[in-house]
Amino acid sequence: MTDPDLAEKRRKGYTVDTLGVLIDHGYKVALYCENPRDGLTCGFVKWLDLEKLAAKLGRDHSCLRDDLVPNLFCTKCGGKKVSIRLHPYTGPRD
Ligand SMILES: [Zn+2]
Repeated sequence: MTDPDLAEKRRKGYTVDTLGVLIDHGYKVALYCENPRDGLTCGFVKWLDLEKLAAKLGRDHSCLRDDLVPNLFCTKCGGKKVSIRLHPYTGPRD
């Protein structure tokens, strides 16, 4: 495997590769809109609703960026040029 993310996943002791794993381990995923808008980037950021996404795509759906991003869009400008960032669970929330 040449996946550069793989070493990182192995360090964590489990493989973060599906939406189900993200949910089970309390990950949060933020969507960042990079769509150009009026000479700037839209810059909209929102937390993804992973339960909703898993209901739509399935808990076994890959959570790798290249697999997830094509299913996402910015809810502010409708742009498809978005990126995601994973945020590990760091303590009790909400
Ligand atoms: Zn946007």
